[in-house]
Amino acid sequence: MSELALTRNALQGVLNLKPYEPGMPVEELQRKLGVPEAVKLASNENPLGASPKVAELLAAQAKGDLARYPDGSGFRLKAKLAELHNIEPERITLGNGSNDILEFLGRVFLGPGRKSMFSAHAFAVYPIVTLAQHAEAVIVPARSEADAMPLGHDLNAFAERLSDDITLIFIANPNNPTGTWLEPQEIEDFLERVPKQTVVVLDEAYWEYMRPELRVDSRRLLDKHENLVVTRTFSKAYGIASLRVGYGLSHPAVADLMNRVRQPFNNNSLALAAAEVALADQEFVQQTVKLCRDEISRLVPELEAMGLRCLPTQANFISIDFGRDAAPIHQGLLHKGVIVRPTASYAMPNYLRVTLGTRKENDKFMSALREVLAAL
Ligand code: PMP
Repeated sequence: MSELALTRNALQGVLNLKPYEPGMPVEELQRKLGVPEAVKLASNENPLGASPKVAELLAAQAKGDLARYPDGSGFRLKAKLAELHNIEPERITLGNGSNDILEFLGRVFLGPGRKSMFSAHAFAVYPIVTLAQHAEAVIVPARSEADAMPLGHDLNAFAERLSDDITLIFIANPNNPTGTWLEPQEIEDFLERVPKQTVVVLDEAYWEYMRPELRVDSRRLLDKHENLVVTRTFSKAYGIASLRVGYGLSHPAVADLMNRVRQPFNNNSLALAAAEVALADQEFVQQTVKLCRDEISRLVPELEAMGLRCLPTQANFISIDFGRDAAPIHQGLLHKGVIVRPTASYAMPNYLRVTLGTRKENDKFMSALREVLAAL
């Protein structure tokens, strides 16, 4: 970055930040390497797109009144979510993606002299939210690679590090980029140990992909713990990542605090309407989840037969351990038109995170990988 005189006035937390690295768009690969037919398995998106009903709705809405501001309260979407979760609308906060909710929480609860806590190898937005607020991050070592849940969150280690200056805790379940998860009982036990004034975020961006018996009963936990915030998103199983809709479920008082820092029209009209329609098409969600599970069951044994270790996953991606620096493999795959996510910035340089695509996309990844590994 070029140094301007004003850089010295930038806040230290911001100077310490590394910008979020998004997965490379297909067009960029085509532009940079001239690879004609690329597939993107790098951003945990839905390979089936969105429910066809969303496209129909957007076409109809495009003829609507674009000059009007959206409904700033998201009344209709909140009503649908309230019904789905059997929860009062006052407990729902809508975000421009669930990242928005994470940021609201940082703005409300973090600041100089305060700390957030999260696991090593956890989602990249947690340090961004923390440092942007000029707060400090307590990064808890993850479970070992030899553990039954390799590189997973270690909530006992979280509990041992609790202190009064930690005001916000992030738990990703399942976690990105590892795909690892926590047993519902582990989460319940941990919540019992956290002081009431410390907010715990249970980030459930990949909730729909989890086996039902592994999902926590968020509704019951919210009743029990006023300091719990559960976040969900429409970006993954619902397939509308481009429209940016996520939400938080919390105590109404926490929702009220978040609403004070929320920009008035953080969700646009098309996104709100699309989320409503996407929510109603649960059949599409089931189809998405089935494809993902079937493909994990098909690919993991194939990868293991190639001598590669896969982290256990309940999300829509697999993190693969190459037992060596994975950067050349990432590059090799790019040249063959397959974009996956390097995880060196997550302190996992030997791994690549691969989002499950359609069967055809996954086959392209597997054959590209075989060729790349053979040429090393
Ligand atoms: N949490 C986790 C663990 C994620 O992986 C993601 C997406 N990469 C998000 C939150 C945010 O997703 P969105 O803002 O699109 O809802």
